[in-house]
Amino acid sequence: MSQGFEREERIQFSHEGCELDTLAVRAGQHRTGEGEHGDAIFTTSSFVFSSAREAAARFNGDEEGNIYSRFTNPTVRAFEKRIASLEGGERAVATSSGMAAILSLGLALMQAGDHVVCSRSVFGSTVSLFDRYFSRAGIQTTFVDPTDLTAWKAAIRPETKLLFLETPSNPLAELTDISAVADIAHAQGALLVVDNCFLTPALQRPLSLGADIVMHSATKYLDGQGRCVGGVLVGRDKEMEDVFGFIRTGGSCMSPFNAWVFLKGLETLPLRMRAQSDSALSLAQWLKQQPGIEKVYYSGLHDHPQHELACRQQSAFGGVLSFEVAGDKEAAWRFIDATEVVSITGNLGDVKTTITHPDTTTHGRMTADEKAKAGIKPNLIRLSVGLESLDDLKTDLQRGLSAL
Ligand SMILES: *Cc1c(COP(=O)(O)O)cnc(C)c1O
Repeated sequence: MSQGFEREERIQFSHEGCELDTLAVRAGQHRTGEGEHGDAIFTTSSFVFSSAREAAARFNGDEEGNIYSRFTNPTVRAFEKRIASLEGGERAVATSSGMAAILSLGLALMQAGDHVVCSRSVFGSTVSLFDRYFSRAGIQTTFVDPTDLTAWKAAIRPETKLLFLETPSNPLAELTDISAVADIAHAQGALLVVDNCFLTPALQRPLSLGADIVMHSATKYLDGQGRCVGGVLVGRDKEMEDVFGFIRTGGSCMSPFNAWVFLKGLETLPLRMRAQSDSALSLAQWLKQQPGIEKVYYSGLHDHPQHELACRQQSAFGGVLSFEVAGDKEAAWRFIDATEVVSITGNLGDVKTTITHPDTTTHGRMTADEKAKAGIKPNLIRLSVGLESLDDLKTDLQRGLSAL
């Protein structure tokens, strides 16, 4: 930053060209003019106008400015600007949840007759949304093995509009080559959407790898402390304007309070992601050597089948790992129940470590056949590593191992 900024310029400075850690604490901040250093929360449903003429100009779009918090709110906009800057996109649009982001995206950019190619290893509700609900609107989805580029290519149809993936996948850490799938999408004139929940822009920036749109459940690492539900999409102005148009009408908007919490979350995102990812790598390596552990799934391990791809498109490996214990469901449950420090919950991305039995919780609604295809075994346990001391976490997992 050069010296000599006038005060106004200094307040409005865009931080363009700054690095991720700086953008996380600085980008997009809205200043009211009262001199506050923190971020103001605009808890207002509507905004007032200085005259009937101004009201008319705002409503018909002749004049920029706030109207109603379903579509314009300064706190929500500050969050959108900050995450857009972190992901390297032109614009972001915030939504009431991660699922609302996918719903809004689908309804804004597609119509009856269109087709989607989706990784079969995406979040369970994402599968249901495409399979059960978008199909009712005449939008068909083909699910493919996310690691198989030939399968992605073969699934493309003339009416394919969207390709959707999540990498690394949950809970088995399968990776998809974002650049390669972006090429497949673009050869067809379709858009690639990447759910970047698991790594966040701190560790992976899909837009820089060729993806067109990034989607987040802000509920996970963007918040990072398990407080609020929210979502966001980041991409080019063109598509984001269409999504914004849908949200303005459809009402799947983010609340200003949640936007404020997510703004605070983003400030520590790079720090948290590095720390949680470092601990997860240590635990994955440690678990691999413990008797009673049959297999560890984590893209940071050298024997992960896509470790080379992980090193290429990620700057670290993330905070989530999973492992199979010797035995069956009962053994997995004994392991989980013997832990004392970690939380037994289905959530992830929190500073508190969480432990989950996917077979009977997050993936419990799948049929036996679907589970077999997806590789969800009864002895599988997922760990979302938080910020507790690594030694305490090892001691806790040792309690689990002793109970096997
Ligand atoms: C949680 C999650 C979602 C859904 O987000 P909500 O905020 O719960 O609606 C989508 N994708 C992934 C990878 C998730 O973990």
